[in-house]
Amino acid sequence: MTELDAAWADRWLRECARVLAARREELIDLDRAIGDGDHGENMDRGFQAVVEKLDEGPSGSVAAALKLAATMLMSKVGGAAGPLYGTAFLRASVAVGERDALDGPTVEAMLAAARDGVVARGKAEPGDKTMVDAWAPAVDAAGRAGDGEAALAAAASAAEAGALATKPLVARKGRASYLGERSAGHLDPGAVSTSYILRAAVTAAVSEISAGAE
Ligand code: ADP
Ligand code: MG
Repeated sequence: MTELDAAWADRWLRECARVLAARREELIDLDRAIGDGDHGENMDRGFQAVVEKLDEGPSGSVAAALKLAATMLMSKVGGAAGPLYGTAFLRASVAVGERDALDGPTVEAMLAAARDGVVARGKAEPGDKTMVDAWAPAVDAAGRAGDGEAALAAAASAAEAGALATKPLVARKGRASYLGERSAGHLDPGAVSTSYILRAAVTAAVSEISAGAE
């Protein structure tokens, strides 16, 4: 089994940057439909800044990696998503604490802290068509899974399903809520970016295997 350790956390953040760069235009289009069209650019810029920091040296611990992400996202992403993701990663960092590596319960605790941070900051509930609709089912699924990798995989799948399920919803929080009923019929960009971030955590766990086989 792959250790969910500091090296994994750094791979996770680099994979986030890779995926969000690749999905930049898609997230821009999603946000253009029910917002102002900046979400793809915001997320790409934020995670490129995270990678620039990582290039200065490995973060050294899971908590330090999550804190580095929080700091960079808070200062570089802007909009609604910057403070929301910043708070999520900061709370996640605190939840991980001194641990060298994560197991199933700590993955769940990390994701629950992130979700709670998003909720504390944005006051959205499940069903409001926000990133909470990806975070909340992810936490629930992680709690039902086994070891750390299984918890991450369950969380990512649940976040993807949660993001897809935002399509028919009417937005009750954030910029999309200004559209009222017209926000229905579109995916929520923040829920989609959350699903990419959580899928990246799984890819980072699996990628060590392929790296070792080279
Ligand atoms: P902005 O809306 O300021 O342009 P972004 O486009 O970067 O910011 O991010 C929009 C995303 O932020 C939405 O798709 C939604 O998922 C999330 N969001 C907005 N407001 C809230 C909130 N109050 N609670 C949770 N998530 C929110
Ligand atoms: Mg926007």
